Amino acid sequence: MVSLLWLQGGACSGNTISLLNAEEPSIVDLVTDFGIDIVWHPSLGMELGKNAQKLLYSLARGERPLDIFVYEGTVIMGPNGTGRFNMFAERPMKDWVIELAHQAQIVVAIGDCAAYGGIPVVDPNPVDSIGMQYFRRHKGGFLGADFRSKMGLPVVNIPGCPVHPDWVTQILVAIATGRAGDIALDDIGRPKTFFTTFTQTGCTRNQFFEWKQSASEFGQGTRTGCLFYELGCRGPMTRSSCNRILWNRQSSKTRAGMPCLGCTEPEFPFYDLAPGTVFKTQKISGSVPMDLPTGTDHATYMAHAAMARVAAPSWSKEDIFVV
Ligand code: SF4
Ligand code: SF4
Repeated sequence: MVSLLWLQGGACSGNTISLLNAEEPSIVDLVTDFGIDIVWHPSLGMELGKNAQKLLYSLARGERPLDIFVYEGTVIMGPNGTGRFNMFAERPMKDWVIELAHQAQIVVAIGDCAAYGGIPVVDPNPVDSIGMQYFRRHKGGFLGADFRSKMGLPVVNIPGCPVHPDWVTQILVAIATGRAGDIALDDIGRPKTFFTTFTQTGCTRNQFFEWKQSASEFGQGTRTGCLFYELGCRGPMTRSSCNRILWNRQSSKTRAGMPCLGCTEPEFPFYDLAPGTVFKTQKISGSVPMDLPTGTDHATYMAHAAMARVAAPSWSKEDIFVV
């Protein structure tokens, strides 16, 4: 059996809720088919009070082997570096985290908060939160830039708000079956297999993106337009597999008419949630998108956009609803 401990810090439990929806494989499959022993989890663990504390100490002191340490949420440092804003089993959570991370064969940060800080670190960062090995895009974080688990790996970051459950269970299976060394990470610690292509890859609205035709309202499935031009979609500059590995096996935000918010990138939430920046494309001079698809520049984009609008076929401007 491969032992797994899951703890939560500055978190909303969204990633845990998402995990329970995993299908390929499911959380039950992790236990029955892949031999993962979930030693303790805040929502699933059976031990309470002193029994839970005893269990945690046995792992933190290395008396009981810990293969996978999963952490959800930020590490809370306040007030004044004590971590006492987030007490757990009679100690600051950050003290558990540092000990457990050094005992674990591999450490996995689940969700944007654990990976990069996410929403809790938005200014003024009231409880002094930080990600496990990053603060937004800056390497370091709580464990430090040089941290390596016992297996010699940096923290594996699986960001998202929430994370797609199958990203989590598939990485856990890879670890549990002895293939952790095969998990290629990008330059900010994300498994490349899920975070190389963009949210836009596989989006059913690409046909409208191509011809620069904008959606004017949310929802509507794929009837009209792309959500990039007015409604703030970050699909062309967000590395995620949301339109390749569909949510609930059938849909995604953009397929349902909801813009991608870029939740797998360290800068999420973008513009620090300033009024008027959510679900609204930020523009230069009122017309040119401020943030462009990754890999292009404003001059090239504007030339291409002008040509595409002129060449746009009539169907791209129509409601193409089909029963
Ligand atoms: S910008 Fe968003 S809605 Fe438009 S094609 Fe890309 S991912 Fe889809
Ligand atoms: S579509 Fe965008 S905002 Fe939604 S989960 Fe995927 S990466 Fe995050």
